[in-house]
Amino acid sequence: MSSAETNSHTDASEESTGRLQNTESLVYPTRSLHFLKRLDAASSRADGYKAEPSSLKLNIIVVGGGLGGLSAAIALARKGHTVTVLEAAPELGEVGAGIQVPPNSSRLLLAWGIAPFLQGKAVETEAITLRRWRNGAKIGYTKLLPDFRESYDAPYWVVHRAHLLDALLQLALKHGVTVQTDARVLQYDPSKPSLTLHTGVEKTADLIVAADGVKSLARPAILTTPDTPPRYTRFAAYRATVSTQKMRADPRTAELLDRPGQNLWLGPQRHIMAYSIAAGETFNLVISHPATTDPATWRQDDNVAEMKRQFEGWDPRIVGVLDMVEQTTRWPLMAYRDALPRWVHRDGKMCMLGDAAHAMLPYMSQGAAMAVEDGAALAEAIGCVGRKEDMGRALGVWESVRLKRTSGMQQAAWVQGKLWHFEDGAEQRARDESMRAEVEGVHFVESANQWSDPVTQAWTYAYDAEMEVRVAFRE
Ligand SMILES: Cc1cc2nc3c(=O)[nH]c(=O)nc-3n(C[C@H](O)[C@H](O)[C@H](O)COP(=O)(O)OP(=O)(O)OC[C@H]3O[C@@H](n4cnc5c(N)ncnc54)[C@H](O)[C@@H]3O)c2cc1C
Repeated sequence: MSSAETNSHTDASEESTGRLQNTESLVYPTRSLHFLKRLDAASSRADGYKAEPSSLKLNIIVVGGGLGGLSAAIALARKGHTVTVLEAAPELGEVGAGIQVPPNSSRLLLAWGIAPFLQGKAVETEAITLRRWRNGAKIGYTKLLPDFRESYDAPYWVVHRAHLLDALLQLALKHGVTVQTDARVLQYDPSKPSLTLHTGVEKTADLIVAADGVKSLARPAILTTPDTPPRYTRFAAYRATVSTQKMRADPRTAELLDRPGQNLWLGPQRHIMAYSIAAGETFNLVISHPATTDPATWRQDDNVAEMKRQFEGWDPRIVGVLDMVEQTTRWPLMAYRDALPRWVHRDGKMCMLGDAAHAMLPYMSQGAAMAVEDGAALAEAIGCVGRKEDMGRALGVWESVRLKRTSGMQQAAWVQGKLWHFEDGAEQRARDESMRAEVEGVHFVESANQWSDPVTQAWTYAYDAEMEVRVAFRE
């Protein structure tokens, strides 16, 4: 049966063009329909990734020049809005560590035109390998190349954060965004909307989008209640990098560089995520562990010794890498377990996104990816209305779509921690057994590895942030 025959909504003209636009109104969960959508997406991209300009042209201020703020600025500027980013720091910057850019995010970034700015910097990885803490034995395996690339139509990248931020900045400037650094916002009037900078200068706009991170000042202004910041999860992560040149010289560690991929060691209450960044020159480590003391009391100067102590007795290969770490920073993991009640101020002229709105455990590697989706969905929602008076409606639809998506991801990240941190014993053995088929390369229909589990995988990576907004408008 042809693809057109399977879809009763498809009219004759769509059949003749081969387009399947009306599949957007179909809501049942299906991977087979995803196949049809992928065909359609491929033909749209052949048309040149053109953004539909919004008929409503707004003057928009984005607060925060992190990954979330710049992504939102690009998505909005592409639609024809005038966008200014205000960043408190004297210059844009990111921590010196890596970040995973999964296909639900890279697909959008590519559509926005990021490719030339990441040329030679992003690495497309081949697989994620889950390993037993004690000996590094393979206990789970998610094939990314070619499987993810084919299924989700975009690469799974790992990249240095500074390179990603710089690429976003270059792209934002190309789309006409104005970026002002040394511009700390001290106060908001969400009803006007306006904001006041540390210099005393007041700025007004049609819309203020706050992407000001975990310690958001905008959040209490939007919620109109005392702030409810994300909670300290009593888990922390050491972040560190090691030179791959050093690793290649050591027979214990050299084999970890054989193929580009993520390696994840799972142990009691702890895990280590590792992959190469900076086009293979640097090895990036995120080392997660319980930490029950108040982060305000942490001394960063004795981190290296404490980190090594916590991972004594682990796989000699990863211990070999930890031995090469000269410096590391310890990050408290701050997260919401559940969704905030709203992200849009009741007057409909100010909203928030990114970590300000949905800080989550980093275990799904989706925090920044959610912020990229937030920006894409926001631009799409505003494009769905033609008049300024309807902006509140656009933001309302956006908020409900994004709250649903990100609260699911917050839960998935929390579940990930549960699955990964079992003490050695019956639960750990059952988990490892549930992942055995993927390691052996035989057919499976479910897995405790959420990257491999077919349902979680499709929900996470096939998600189309713009389409979800269009569907919600029609409803
Ligand atoms: C250990 C770890 C690993 C992670 N790994 C991944 C991963 O692999 N993949 C992934 O997708 N995500 C990952 N994340 C999550 C990701 O890092 C965050 O979700 C993302 O960086 C948040 O971006 P943001 O722009 O919302 O916030 P931020 O990066 O915090 O940016 C906020 C910006 O706002 C500015 N600002 C704050 N207040 C003001 C003000 N008053 N006025 C003006 N400017 C202001 C700040 O200076 C800052 O530049 C990880 C997180 C952690 C902790």
